[in-house]
Amino acid sequence: MSLTLPGRLAAVLPEGRVLPDDVWYRRHRIVLTVAAVQAVALGLLALALGEGVMAATLEAAAVAYPLAFALLPGVGRQLRSAATTISLLTASVLLVYLMEGQTEAHFHFFVVIGLVSLYQEWGPFGIALLVVVAHHGVLGTLVPHSVFGHDAAHEDPWVWAGIHAFFVLAASLAHLAAWRLNEQQGLRDPLTGLANRTLLMETTDRMLARTSGEVSMLFLDLDDFKDVNDSRGHAAGDVLLTSIARRLSGCLRPGDQVARIGGDEFAVVVAGGQKSATAIGQRMLVALADPVIIEGRPLVPHVSIGAAGTATAGERDAGVLLRNADLAMYMAKALGKNRLVHYADGMAQAAEEKARLLEDLGGAVAGGQLRVHYQPTIGLADGSTTGYEALLRWQYPERGLIPPAEFIPLAEEGGLIVEIGRWVLEQAARQAVAWSAEAGRPIGMAVNLSPTQLADDDVVAIVQRVLDLTGLPARQLTLEVTEGVLVRDVDLVADQLQALRRLGVRIAIDDFGTGYSSLSYLRRLPADIIKIDRSFVQDLDTGGSSTTLVASIIELARSLHLEVVAEGVETAQQRDVLGELACSHAQGYLFGRPQPAAEPAVVPESAAVLAPAPLVSR
Ligand code: C2E
Ligand code: CA
Ligand code: CA
Repeated sequence: MSLTLPGRLAAVLPEGRVLPDDVWYRRHRIVLTVAAVQAVALGLLALALGEGVMAATLEAAAVAYPLAFALLPGVGRQLRSAATTISLLTASVLLVYLMEGQTEAHFHFFVVIGLVSLYQEWGPFGIALLVVVAHHGVLGTLVPHSVFGHDAAHEDPWVWAGIHAFFVLAASLAHLAAWRLNEQQGLRDPLTGLANRTLLMETTDRMLARTSGEVSMLFLDLDDFKDVNDSRGHAAGDVLLTSIARRLSGCLRPGDQVARIGGDEFAVVVAGGQKSATAIGQRMLVALADPVIIEGRPLVPHVSIGAAGTATAGERDAGVLLRNADLAMYMAKALGKNRLVHYADGMAQAAEEKARLLEDLGGAVAGGQLRVHYQPTIGLADGSTTGYEALLRWQYPERGLIPPAEFIPLAEEGGLIVEIGRWVLEQAARQAVAWSAEAGRPIGMAVNLSPTQLADDDVVAIVQRVLDLTGLPARQLTLEVTEGVLVRDVDLVADQLQALRRLGVRIAIDDFGTGYSSLSYLRRLPADIIKIDRSFVQDLDTGGSSTTLVASIIELARSLHLEVVAEGVETAQQRDVLGELACSHAQGYLFGRPQPAAEPAVVPESAAVLAPAPLVSR
């Protein structure tokens, strides 16, 4: 889109955007007061200059009557501002008339232009310019002495009207510049210099009004930006945001606009449908894939993008586009982040359902709807039960048992996970104490800890309190963290794990092999156990490449003196392969499904029959 002359002019001139109501009315009240005071002052001036009471009253009324519109309730802003503008200009005309065209009286017009520019609307401004030219030209021709105070003007009123109009225009330009700067200040994000939400919405409104073609919106949300702020500090966060803003701007075509609409949220309005939106969204994902170097350390900013267009919006409305794109962005997050997802029908319902579920989850703990199931861990050497893993379920009144994969991410998002996690921990610890007492030997208990729980400052205190409360010896408790926590700041995580370990509890790295971490991370992490992810274990009987991987994980664990648990063992063949690879522990449906504590399969008698080996503790 190359800019034509009118286009270029439009880019320089103020946009004439509407001031927020409260600001507008504040300014309007000032202008209104000035106009009212002038009506009175001019009446008095007329009297002082020797005019009759009748004439003076009429003149005051001529200035005051437009104000009547401005005072009527229910009148729109345009009519109000037009009315005060006309009142002010009538005052100018009358003043010039009363002063018999004296040049100094014309200064009044300049003041009026300044006052009227407070509205930041083209209407009053246009009226002012028009009146100056008409007054000087027309009245100047008809009754020159009431307009101009010198002979030259009396002879060529239009020339002098032009000269006055020129100066009025020049004064106006100064006001226009101030006006434009005001607009920019209120419409830009101070940190990145990008448009803000208000400007984006206005641009979108204009695009929607100007064409009948498709318009699309992209909604971008940085993945895990909070971690950057928490671990690297806010200054680093700002550097990252500025750098991202620059990269995003580089992905646009002329006419598109990118805005920063929240802490780590950006939005882009794009002319065109799904194809254009996809092209730009993909370009942005690529542009962000390069690491940003902050204080000498690289950081790869990932972003989740939602896209929505007018074709799927139902109505051509900027707010609807942004909301749909936002919903699609949430879907992108749910599907694993760092991707682009297009809005589709049903996402709004899905989001509503999710919100309802989250609301219900809030009451689930108090309402006694949460259950803990227990799955045994087996020592492969003798098939004994060495302990249990606590796995959470939600007994939802209408839907039955909801698996944790469906509601734990929700609890994380909604900030409920810390409370729920504490509850699970307490239940599991109590159960372990009870089983240990019944079995007459220590029964180990493993509890899952989500990344948010681990990041919580209070986690160490919470674990300590639960141990104190239940009397569970610390060495009987294992806390499982997924490899996923490592994408956060490794040093921070390591410190937190170290503090937990000082309590005497053991740390297991869950789902090992699936995450982003390399084996070398393991050396830096204070861990006692690694749990080989189910996906590798289930590949074992097909003789796939997993066998080599599992063998090397076991080897590595041995060299680091870590215990290994193979997850998701379902067949005897998988168990045998693991035995050959000298894997020490296993868990899976083959040995026992997760079950409530009261179920016969996991009552203490059977645990005792299995005569488990003593817990390995280091
Ligand atoms: P996880 O920690 O990896 O738990 C193991 C999952 O594998 C469990 O799913 C278990 O039921 C399932 N499983 C066990 N053996 C087998 C098998 O032989 N075959 C198959 N196909 N699956 C098996 P579940 O209970 O649905 O839990 C899913 C995930 O939810 C857990 O994965 C864990 O990450 C999370 N989770 C569960 N309870 C809690 C909790 O209390 N707090 C937190 N933060 N997360 C939890
Ligand atoms: Ca686990
Ligand atoms: Ca696992």
